[in-house]
Amino acid sequence: MTRPRRRRPTLVLRGVAKTYGAGETAVRALRGIDLVVERGDFLAVMGASGSGKSTLMNVIGCLDVPTAGRYLLEGIDVSQLDDLELAFIRNRKIGFVFQTYNLVPRTSALRNAELPLVYARVPKHERRQRAVEALEAVGVADRMHHLPSELSGGQQQRVAIARAIVTNPAIVLADEPTGNLDSASGAEVMQIFSRLNAAGRTIVMITHEHDIAEHAKRVIHLVDGRIESDHRTAALDALPPKLAAAEVPRAELA
Ligand code: ADP
Ligand code: MG
Repeated sequence: MTRPRRRRPTLVLRGVAKTYGAGETAVRALRGIDLVVERGDFLAVMGASGSGKSTLMNVIGCLDVPTAGRYLLEGIDVSQLDDLELAFIRNRKIGFVFQTYNLVPRTSALRNAELPLVYARVPKHERRQRAVEALEAVGVADRMHHLPSELSGGQQQRVAIARAIVTNPAIVLADEPTGNLDSASGAEVMQIFSRLNAAGRTIVMITHEHDIAEHAKRVIHLVDGRIESDHRTAALDALPPKLAAAEVPRAELA
């Protein structure tokens, strides 16, 4: 009998360290992170201000390289890549969601969602279709011709999530995605992340709010650049814990 082959983890970090500066003023932001994130997981990264959350996000997102240790993204050793290759990997494999949405102003929701595909040189017709599908998946397709300034915070964050998933990335990385939202819009955004995860997307989300972390299936805590605790709150292949009972994952999210 052949056993099903285990899938390669999406992220593998081994002894990852990041030091800013040198000598007396050196800041050891990460001090030996060992972390494996399997495909389909929904990880929340918690920790006090200054504990290294953003540094970890920058390393995972290939925005910065570790000063020591190894980092494999879908089996690719990222530390070996030059800036051009890193930019390519970021565009193809990572979808970013920021606290402040970071949409391009005076540019429609549709065009914002489409932009990563412009950089990826996807032909116009396909690009448009995929951007519309991504906006539909997060429930803002009816706003596609609006500018960011004409959208609520929650709607802007949905457009940002559409932009993050439009390239079909290996991982969606979110840094405090509900930090600027009122609790109702924040809850809606978390339902969207839960639905994306239920449809198979791997999510790594930074938050300092416990009720937001409760949406994830696994929670790690950083203290002074180290992982202090690592708790699984739902099985890897289970639905995310806070997915509303009425929410059945829709095929178009996959
Ligand atoms: P968090 O996101 O958890 O608040 P950070 O990862 O931003 O933490 O920061 C971790 C530590 O690294 C802090 O002490 C911070 O001051 C320091 N740090 C972050 N970025 C830089 C930088 N570019 N240069 C120097 N120190 C930095
Ligand atoms: Mg931070």
